[in-house]
Amino acid sequence: MTTHRTKMLIIGSGPAGYSAAIYGARAMMAPIMVQGLQPGGQLTITTDVENYPGFRDVIQGPWLMEEMKAQAEHVGTEVVWDTIVDIDLANGSPFRAVGDSGDEYIGDVVVIATGAQAKWLGVPGEMELGGKGVSACATCDGFFFRGKRVAVIGGGNTAVEEALYLTNHASHVTLIHRRDSLRAERILQDRLFAHPKISVLWNRVVESFEGDPAGAGLTHLVLADRATGAREDFATDGAFVAIGHAPATELFKGKLELDASGYIVVEPGTPKTAIPGVFAAGDVMDHTYRQAVTAAGTGCMAALDAERFLSGLSVDLHGHAEAAE
Ligand code: FAD
Ligand code: NAP
Repeated sequence: MTTHRTKMLIIGSGPAGYSAAIYGARAMMAPIMVQGLQPGGQLTITTDVENYPGFRDVIQGPWLMEEMKAQAEHVGTEVVWDTIVDIDLANGSPFRAVGDSGDEYIGDVVVIATGAQAKWLGVPGEMELGGKGVSACATCDGFFFRGKRVAVIGGGNTAVEEALYLTNHASHVTLIHRRDSLRAERILQDRLFAHPKISVLWNRVVESFEGDPAGAGLTHLVLADRATGAREDFATDGAFVAIGHAPATELFKGKLELDASGYIVVEPGTPKTAIPGVFAAGDVMDHTYRQAVTAAGTGCMAALDAERFLSGLSVDLHGHAEAAE
């Protein structure tokens, strides 16, 4: 067992973690980053990224994350291949965490950047056709379906927002829901039902995603009608699974305040949790925006706040230095 001691322990290696690492290293906090089971985070499972600022041409998600890693290491971050399985936040700074390897990590501050994962249906074809017509992020991938027919699966706010957003690109959007009423807010439902490009298929469950992963990608869905049991092939160019996200916060249950959906609660407008010296950045504390650039932005904020915490000043980004926390 090895003990790793650092001023700044970062848990998670997505855009939030790397952004915190770059700022933290440049502030001489010599960060240690524990990568977790998905080094590079969610962007490593996508292909084209067209909305991360600074690149005129389309870039690849895995490449972007390799670049972030290289930059973080270049300025002095130590990136460790491990997953945090336990953490003690109750006894204040320094915080002690334990990795799956048995190693111990001790950090004066902790930046939690463990992200969130889209929930998937878990039916045949879904994973194989991921990035080949099947997606869980309309903001990320909607652009690739210009003038095409797409389906959105789900009945909550996310599904309705994704359907409305996709009308900016697609020729037609079909919302497919397993029941006969939506749980989305009324105002969103009104917009959805009034939209000329959107239709709704009720009481349908997706049994499989069909197509050729090595060729044209998704061609159709096999749907089952829950009322009659009848099956049908539903032709579509794209399918967006929008049945919710699961933040990676299992580790923090009972240790930090989580909201009803499991996201870490932070002081509004900041990455500060209720425990001084513990910060949360990226998708793990943001169920609204969930973008690489917003995750990177809050990672930066976490590092700046961490630096201020360590220098014994409370964080006030409006320009006032207050007494120590
Ligand atoms: P994540 O990227 O989710 O990273 C979380 C990290 O935490 C991972 O490295 C994981 O290994 C680590 N981790 C989790 N638990 C532990 C633990 N216990 N110990 C240690 N480490 C742990 N956004 C865009 O802006 N543009 C796009 O084009 C785009 N396309 C996308 C395509 C897909 C298919 C998906 C799924 C998402 C896409 N997104 C896109 C969204 C974007 O990827 C996320 O908003 C962003 O990655 C969130 O960054 P994050 O750092 O908060 O967390
Ligand atoms: P959600 O509210 O949990 O809705 C998930 C939807 O997916 C439900 O309609 C559910 O169906 C359906 N679903 C779940 N599992 C399914 C499965 N296996 N097969 C088929 N359908 C399935 O999730 P969300 O829409 O992502 O919203 C999460 C939270 O974020 C909510 O609190 C929401 O209000 C909030 N949010 C707010 C906004 C906003 O304020 N603008 C935007 C997005 C999200 P059932 O209805 O049958 O259960």
